[in-house]
Amino acid sequence: MKFEYSNPFTAPGIWLKGNLHTHTTKSDGVRTPQEVVDHYSLNGYDFLSITDHGTRVDPRPLDNRGMVLIPGQEISIGNSLAGTTYHIVAANIQETIKIHDFDHTQDPQRAIDLTAEQGGFAILAHPYWSGLHTQDLLRLIGYLGVEIYNTSCDVYRGTGYSNSHIDALLACGSRPLIFATDDHHGEPEPMKPSDACVAWIMVKARDKRLKSIVEAIKMGLFYSSTGPTLKNIEFKSEGIHVETSPVRHITFISTPSLGSRFAANDTLVTEYTYPGRRGETYVRIEAADGDGRVAWTNAMHVVGTS
Ligand SMILES: [Zn+2]
Ligand SMILES: [Zn+2]
Repeated sequence: MKFEYSNPFTAPGIWLKGNLHTHTTKSDGVRTPQEVVDHYSLNGYDFLSITDHGTRVDPRPLDNRGMVLIPGQEISIGNSLAGTTYHIVAANIQETIKIHDFDHTQDPQRAIDLTAEQGGFAILAHPYWSGLHTQDLLRLIGYLGVEIYNTSCDVYRGTGYSNSHIDALLACGSRPLIFATDDHHGEPEPMKPSDACVAWIMVKARDKRLKSIVEAIKMGLFYSSTGPTLKNIEFKSEGIHVETSPVRHITFISTPSLGSRFAANDTLVTEYTYPGRRGETYVRIEAADGDGRVAWTNAMHVVGTS
């Protein structure tokens, strides 16, 4: 099989860790923009996008603490089949996108289009938490990707994983990139874990400049994680070869009813080569450790069988 896939492991450059979805006191977060920047920098992040509701926080007055700050905004808009709003993260925008938040009468496509007009990229946030159906997502075009995992939705509501939305889109021929983000809002409530520095993307960028990071993200040169590290992805004559930090299982998720999970019974695994199955149109990889932490690749699209 031959695949179309932007492979970060063969692309030149450096690995950079970042979070593309964060709130501050400029909307409903509890940390100020500077406190959020300080916190992520202290935890080893290379880039961060502050994406407050309804406003773009200007990063220039902030001390970036060595991080690259990607200006962003989250927009709540539209009316889904369930009567809920879509949440759209607009990253790398030049100015606030002036759409009235929670306006049910506006088309969510407008938020995506206005983001693209500013040279930014749109991510469909937490579709599971939002109560979105696949049909709600299929009517949109021009966005870059979908959140497969959202920390805040997970730790506060138990609706953080949107993998089935993404697989439904992929099965229908859409090609969303796959993002894990924190959607950090605030300090943990009693008996609840923190929603900061839990989920991130690892981007292979030419260098640590805003332009290079955005360019690499747009090309799909990244993977997402809440813990495990991916070490290599290679297309061999025997199949897709993946190497990871020690994990409990490696899963090749594919076209409905196909794909395969690999796990050793009594030990951790660090690599596997998946030969693929007839009829698969895409394959994406999840590597999960014993504590429920996961690494996700973007989808690899089958383009031929030889
Ligand atoms: Zn949201
Ligand atoms: Zn958010």
